Amino acid sequence: LSDLTHLLNRLVGERIVLTFDHDPSLRMIRADRRQLEQVIMNLVVNARDAMPQGGDITVTTDNMSLATPTEIGKAILPPGEYVRVQVRDEGCGISPDDQAKIFEPFYTTKRLGEGTGLGLSTAYGIVKQTGGYIFCDSTVGEGSTFLLFFPVHDRAD
Ligand code: ADP
Ligand code: MG
Repeated sequence: LSDLTHLLNRLVGERIVLTFDHDPSLRMIRADRRQLEQVIMNLVVNARDAMPQGGDITVTTDNMSLATPTEIGKAILPPGEYVRVQVRDEGCGISPDDQAKIFEPFYTTKRLGEGTGLGLSTAYGIVKQTGGYIFCDSTVGEGSTFLLFFPVHDRAD
């Protein structure tokens, strides 16, 4: 992970302060480490692109236990034990219309050469593969938070 934080700090540049708020008692999930790093990287690069003037990006991890089905945005998360990862920025934000499209492959608002529109669809695929969930919570002019929920897997089978 320290390799990743080093890489991410170089990616975001000097105008952005990147903060990691990592829960040391984080539980185990069943996922490919490289793929997870790719997901975090995609989200951090998007956050950076949303803040050309600079600002703060915060990556937070914690354990979450849901006793009842819980509404997150427009979706419902089943009860269970999760590891939650949040990537928050203070960028331009995403309109509700765009929020409905951003996880589709090749959907991009960036100019040719600056974005492929594959970052979030790749992230979606990887998170789904772990049995997890990915959501976007965003307000235009205030910023965006991407929330990832991975089911806890304590047994090594
Ligand atoms: P790309 O970054 O190549 O455009 P993505 O799949 O990573 O493709 O993102 C799709 C689109 O979602 C972006 O073009 C942008 O419009 C929007 N988006 C994603 N993350 C953010 C963010 N943090 N803030 C604002 N817009 C975002
Ligand atoms: Mg992207």
